[in-house]
Amino acid sequence: GSRPDDDLLAGLNEPQREAVTYRGPALLIVAGAGSGKTSVLTRRIASLLRSREAWPSQILAITFTNKAAGEMRERVRGLIGDTAQGMWISTFHSACVRILRREADQFGFTKNFTIYDSGDSRALIKRLVKEHEADAFGFTPASVQGRISKLKNELADAESFARTANLSDPAERVFAEVFADYQRALQRANAFDFDDLIGQTVYLFRAFPHVADVYRRRFRHILVDEYQDTNHAQYALIHELTRPPGSDGQAHDSGMMIFDAPSGGAGGEEAASLTVVGDSDQSIYAFRGADIRNITEFERDYPGAKVVLLEQNYRSTQTILDAANAVIGNNFDRKDKKLWTDVGPGSAIIGFTGYSQHDEAQFVADEVEALHRAGTAYSEMAVFYRTNSQSRALEEIFIRSAVPYKIMGGTKFYERAEIKDAMAYLIAVANPADELSVRRILNRPRRGIGDVTETSIARYAAEEGITFRDALANASALGVGPKIQQAIAHLDAVLAEATEVMLPASGEVAPPTSVTEGLNVLLNKSGYLDALRRSKDPQDEARVENLDELVAVTREFARNNPEGTLLDFLTEVALVSDADDLDDSSGSVSLMTMHTAKGLEFDAVFVTGVEEDLIPHRISANEPGGPQEERRLFYVALTRARKKLHVSLAMTRAQFGEVSAALPSRFLQEIPHELIDWRQSPGDVNSRGGTQSRALNGRPGSGAGRGGFGGGSRYGDDLVPLPRREKPAGDITKFANRIPAKVRDNGDLELAPGDRIRHDDFGEGRVDMITGEGAKRVAHVRFDSAGPKKLLIKIAPIAKL
Ligand code: ATP
Ligand code: MG
Repeated sequence: GSRPDDDLLAGLNEPQREAVTYRGPALLIVAGAGSGKTSVLTRRIASLLRSREAWPSQILAITFTNKAAGEMRERVRGLIGDTAQGMWISTFHSACVRILRREADQFGFTKNFTIYDSGDSRALIKRLVKEHEADAFGFTPASVQGRISKLKNELADAESFARTANLSDPAERVFAEVFADYQRALQRANAFDFDDLIGQTVYLFRAFPHVADVYRRRFRHILVDEYQDTNHAQYALIHELTRPPGSDGQAHDSGMMIFDAPSGGAGGEEAASLTVVGDSDQSIYAFRGADIRNITEFERDYPGAKVVLLEQNYRSTQTILDAANAVIGNNFDRKDKKLWTDVGPGSAIIGFTGYSQHDEAQFVADEVEALHRAGTAYSEMAVFYRTNSQSRALEEIFIRSAVPYKIMGGTKFYERAEIKDAMAYLIAVANPADELSVRRILNRPRRGIGDVTETSIARYAAEEGITFRDALANASALGVGPKIQQAIAHLDAVLAEATEVMLPASGEVAPPTSVTEGLNVLLNKSGYLDALRRSKDPQDEARVENLDELVAVTREFARNNPEGTLLDFLTEVALVSDADDLDDSSGSVSLMTMHTAKGLEFDAVFVTGVEEDLIPHRISANEPGGPQEERRLFYVALTRARKKLHVSLAMTRAQFGEVSAALPSRFLQEIPHELIDWRQSPGDVNSRGGTQSRALNGRPGSGAGRGGFGGGSRYGDDLVPLPRREKPAGDITKFANRIPAKVRDNGDLELAPGDRIRHDDFGEGRVDMITGEGAKRVAHVRFDSAGPKKLLIKIAPIAKL
């Protein structure tokens, strides 16, 4: 007869089948991009459920984004039908929030805790840095935040830090104090920051083994996607969950549901089975504490683990894979694996060099339109860049060219001031202990409550031993004038009314519309909307629209979660991540950073800004492992493409506040040059104005007019790349009229060290040094007031004095 698994295995290759069907305590699937890791994980879940080896509630699957979680859930449902209810498929953060909402009261929090995003915690740290005068030791809010985050990802807390730090160093002492105060403030506010969500869950499991056992008995199959980007805290969480229940010797029955294994098995006292999938070549979050060793040392941590390797790629053409393999092959310290596909070579990678970033953007827009006319849907195309600021030029050109696009992670809807204000109102209702939120709305809209009053409220709260929020209910006791008393009493009343709407007395169930209604009460009765509507600032009109949008979001939330509470809504919003606003049905091109692109795939991909200082990013250049991590990031970007891959760059870029010459990225040279068909190569751009013939004659042994970079030699020295084929002059000058006014053609301007020049933007300066040759000569100039800059002599807006 047919095994129930048969259709789940249909079309899978042999190692993929093994990855789906292997049963044992630990399974590691390591494989390159596009080899079906995520697909296999999905089918494995379906297979466990279909064969009744597991109930849905016994599955915990971890994905990197909420969106990926949603997709995986849909696929499992598609494979086995609606029986997939009750599975936990979520990000680490969402899973931990769910656990903490149930267990927070075990250790001094309550389940209505607030989740501080990075902006919230930055604001808190800023206040503490000021209070402790930590800036005197060179600390900034950002540096303190970064360091605390790093420590938390290593599971260090304020106490353990204080124990191990060298506190005779005054800077270390002040940092330890800020860290400790920060943690105390979070606890007082009944709040967790993002790192705490994971770290405190680990703490909970370690401190309360009987609580951990509940989850160890519940989750019998734990599966983690993108394991190469887990940090130590996440690793520890998985480790806690995969210990045998009762192993701490104090297992109690805590009253939560305990599931018997549906088919045989040794009851509940075995460790859960763990499956992780990952690709160490795609580890790109070391800067956030991701530890590649979690994957490389998996076999040591889980002795007897089965390892499955996948090498066949089902996503991309061989040309794209050859390029990606060649690039990543330059990283040392890696296990060599070669991806292959049987779909054939496909078309060449298309290369383009613009004079400016707008020129580059125009190329992207033109190609997008051409592909669209030829039948590729906009939603099947994506444009990647290394830094968010690069999206601006693309947006300008896309708008002008009427190309529909969508920026992922760039809209930052929830970071807008008016949205944060509205959220603060909601949080003040949900978690009155959260002083930060209450303080935020104190004088928004303006009620005449200034710093002095705020301090009076805080002092009164401290004296009475009550929360800041509760102090608002005693306006008359604060020793402030009658007008301000009235304003405070009004705010208190609005919050109280909204509380009644959204958080009915225990036992009552709030109707699904309660969040929408409550939000309307808060925005209207507080006078917030009125103040915006009365304002003459045109921006405020847009703010009103944004708030309308937020109200619409609450409505949609109610539709999707008929039993959703205010807390559920706040949780969902707090965990929205960069990748989540991608909407495949939207019919627009997706613009995103290379980091956000992880795990996704598109028919056509444009990797833009492939320049030194961008990719590899200049900040990474001097960090240990930095360039290698950047190379992995570039590898991630290339391997997103199914059919058409484009790489592009600009010769000048307004970046870091200056317009300067850009050099092609070293990674571009690592792509075998015969794989790239240059529509306009860096050589084309530089050979405008007469140097082209020299370039053509000066290149020995270059084959049949093949384009691209010469092997080995650093681009920009002696080898001038050739255009792939002779093009009509018009093709090259086509873009000349798009060169921004600031860039001009200086012909063969003679310049030598010691010369003084004037630059349109930077004023006067002295030439220190000239590097490069011909069209790529670069002047290193020390400007009198603008400081040192590097300029491409040929096109910089300069004149010799
Ligand atoms: P990444 O490293 O980028 O996360 P991945 O290893 O998770 O990639 P998937 O996203 O699972 O790879 O698969 C890549 C593409 O290949 C998907 O479109 C998937 O549907 C397809 N695919 C995977 N396995 C097969 C197969 N056996 N037959 C046909 N298509 C497959
Ligand atoms: Mg994947």
